[in-house]
Amino acid sequence: MIRPPSPRNKLTPRVAVIGGCVAGLSAAVNLASRGVAVTIFEKNAALGGKLNRWQKGGFTFDTGPHVLTMLFAIQELFQTAGERFEDHVDLIRLPTICRYHFPDGDYFDAAADPRQTGEQIGKIFPGGKDEFFAYLSHSQDVYEKTVDTFLRQDPSEAMKRAGAFSALASLKGFLDLNPFESLDRRIQRTFTDERLRQIFRLYALYSGSHPKRCSSIFSVVAHVQWNIGTFYLKGGLYSLVEAIKELMSKLNVQVALNSEVTEITTEGKNCRAIKVMSNGTETEHLVDGLICNQDVLTAHRLLPNLSPPTDVEPSTSAFLILAGIRGSYPTLSHHNSFLTGDEWREYAEIFDNHEPPTDPTIGVSNQSFSDSSRAPDGMTNLFIMANVPAMADQRTWTPERTADYRSVILRKLERMGLPDLESRIIVEDMWTPNDFSIRYNSYRGSLYGLSSNGWKQAFLRPPQRAKGLRGLYYAGGTTHPGGGVPLCILSGKIAAEQLIADL
Ligand SMILES: Cc1cc2nc3c(=O)[nH]c(=O)nc-3n(C[C@H](O)[C@H](O)[C@H](O)COP(=O)(O)OP(=O)(O)OC[C@H]3O[C@@H](n4cnc5c(N)ncnc54)[C@H](O)[C@@H]3O)c2cc1C
Repeated sequence: MIRPPSPRNKLTPRVAVIGGCVAGLSAAVNLASRGVAVTIFEKNAALGGKLNRWQKGGFTFDTGPHVLTMLFAIQELFQTAGERFEDHVDLIRLPTICRYHFPDGDYFDAAADPRQTGEQIGKIFPGGKDEFFAYLSHSQDVYEKTVDTFLRQDPSEAMKRAGAFSALASLKGFLDLNPFESLDRRIQRTFTDERLRQIFRLYALYSGSHPKRCSSIFSVVAHVQWNIGTFYLKGGLYSLVEAIKELMSKLNVQVALNSEVTEITTEGKNCRAIKVMSNGTETEHLVDGLICNQDVLTAHRLLPNLSPPTDVEPSTSAFLILAGIRGSYPTLSHHNSFLTGDEWREYAEIFDNHEPPTDPTIGVSNQSFSDSSRAPDGMTNLFIMANVPAMADQRTWTPERTADYRSVILRKLERMGLPDLESRIIVEDMWTPNDFSIRYNSYRGSLYGLSSNGWKQAFLRPPQRAKGLRGLYYAGGTTHPGGGVPLCILSGKIAAEQLIADL
């Protein structure tokens, strides 16, 4: 229930959060823990944004994230409210991070334990063991030199606060990491085997970017994945949203579902109120502050004086098939990646031609492997994902185009060790970039907001504090520090801290 608008009371500031994905939820928890009255307005019928779920015929699917990393960001969120994340969820560290299936039928398991991964790499790729440990050590160095500057604060604000000397000192540490070198260059310099290089280059796609165009700083993924750890939540990753919901209910955060914010109204240079459309009725709500978890790149739709973005490159989007199937495939681990036979063609098709790749790398998440609650007995829930470009303005995914691409993906998986996949499907749903754009107001259907191609897009992302308008703060994947669940949680925290400081 939304509280009816009441006269402004500076003793209990009222903040509205536009959108209820993880960044919005994180901001709400951070604000409510400090005594702010918070209402989340979410346009859809459920909280979670891209971190959502779909259920049918006894099958349950996560429709977005499948891999949880940098757990500390989530643990800190719960600590803010005096709770422990582990008391709300059943946390599982999977023994295998990912099984990589090569086109020739071989596969390689990246174990959660880095020592085991090193041993395994040494057996399959001669010389690869030492290269892997060198890469991991560099990755740890990158993490340690960047975490405080880039993840826990808005660097542009920090620079202003710290003064020139301190700013230059932290910049020097950063420049020592050779951030102008591309991720691909770093990988070429470290690994000799082309197949290992292909696997490590996939890290660029974790931020929706191209390995030759994003910085070698993204090698940090290795440290995050192996040293900090990769996790699964029993009952699926939507359990994270449910756990935060429990937290918010203790903190008395109000949630208005099916409530789309249609306009932010202003008074001079201050945010004054929001207009909300719910069940065909428009209401106005006065606010003392606003957190916008709607994508910054589509937020101009709420502010008549803002223009649409130009000259920005969105991250990649995804083509999803959620398939509940009869039986199971013994060749599958929990997470799998079916590699392409021509990776440079795949990158060119996505980033230069803006077309879905002809021979895509396909991620298959097989949660039933570790969690029997995800499918009826004797059946399997498969989340199948190919990276595709965000929508070009005029190109949409027609039913014919969608059906054709479904075939490309299913045929490839059938060829690469999942025979008769199509005929074993019992329940199915498909998602294209159109769905991400329409359901979540994400810019051109991108998954992570901006790509991290190029220096500016990676390190000078839109800040939390809105320019030229007091009381408005952005949180979410497009803003600083970037896309992905833990970074969005940190972005919500930074936004909440700035809002409180300005009240
Ligand atoms: C297929 C897929 C796989 C992914 N895999 C991973 C992974 O393995 N690991 C990982 O960490 N990350 C992954 N991600 C990325 C991760 O899901 C996102 O970075 C993160 O969820 C984005 O959160 P956000 O807070 O930016 O909000 P968004 O998900 O963009 O949500 C914005 C919210 O605001 C709501 N909203 C928008 N406009 C309005 C409005 N006007 N009024 C009211 N409500 C509004 C939307 O409905 C939505 O709930 C994946 C994403 C997808 C889609």
